[in-house]
Amino acid sequence: MKGEEAQVIIAGAGTSGLATAACLTSLSIPYIILERDDCVASLWAKRGYDRLKLHLDKQICQLPNVPFPPSFPTYVPRELFLDYLNDYKTRFQIHPLYGRTVESAAYDAASEKWIVKARNNNSRDMVEESYSGRLLVVATGETAHPFVPANIHGLEGFGGEVLHSTEYKTGKEFEGKRVLVVGSGNSGMEIALDLADHGANTSIIVRSPILIAENQEWTFWSIMAGSSKERIVGNIENDCLLTVIGAGDLICGVMEERRA
Ligand SMILES: Cc1cc2nc3c(=O)[nH]c(=O)nc-3n(C[C@H](O)[C@H](O)[C@H](O)COP(=O)(O)OP(=O)(O)OC[C@H]3O[C@@H](n4cnc5c(N)ncnc54)[C@H](O)[C@@H]3O)c2cc1C
Repeated sequence: MKGEEAQVIIAGAGTSGLATAACLTSLSIPYIILERDDCVASLWAKRGYDRLKLHLDKQICQLPNVPFPPSFPTYVPRELFLDYLNDYKTRFQIHPLYGRTVESAAYDAASEKWIVKARNNNSRDMVEESYSGRLLVVATGETAHPFVPANIHGLEGFGGEVLHSTEYKTGKEFEGKRVLVVGSGNSGMEIALDLADHGANTSIIVRSPILIAENQEWTFWSIMAGSSKERIVGNIENDCLLTVIGAGDLICGVMEERRA
């Protein structure tokens, strides 16, 4: 078992992990950053749909010490955001150890260090590695693990397509189809809009009352202030088929006509 030590161990090289690494670099604090994927910000790099933009004003989303360029639009498109993140990585010389899935972390009181165990996915036998540090930063994300609820009634007999939102790219292929999106978080709402824009007959299931911002002039803070209207959109029909999409803990679904 390999053993490496640094002042700080960071698990995850998404935006939070990158920001943490940059701040530590600015303070000359040595760290190791472990990332299970083969790139930074894999949520944005690999699991985004074509029309994805930052949902929040760019001023709220920029990482420490590096404002977005003035030329960037208010709602930064995914590709530009990735350019920004990769420039950020280069600027702060962040070198994640890729292909390392953190599997456990335990605090050792005797040495006053965190012992972090990670599986090296790059090695054929997926060797377990050990890292230690005085501080541990868990930056593995809240939506990094696609979630599909078990035991959805009727799903096993559904003949239509089932997609998790992390697999969704564009509504083009759904034109004219009846589609149900399950869940009204960031992904569910925008995917539903994308489907509708591409001519799909789109419905969305919303579990509880939600706030809907009526246009993009609304900022995060006005949404947080709760001044928008409450509206529930939903239309589930018996002759439709359920498939499940989901982004992180968002769950989206596609419902199509059984007799398509
Ligand atoms: C459609 C959509 C729109 C959004 N819009 C905005 C927005 O406008 N503004 C905003 O601020 N946020 C937005 N978000 C939220 C977005 O998730 C966060 O901004 C950001 O991606 C969170 O960064 P993070 O680093 O915390 O997590 P993530 O981006 O999820 O990164 C976590 C990283 O940890 C890695 N990882 C996970 N488990 C392990 C493990 N066991 N070992 C090693 N590595 C691991 C993952 O591979 C990943 O690289 C949006 C999300 C979605 C889905």
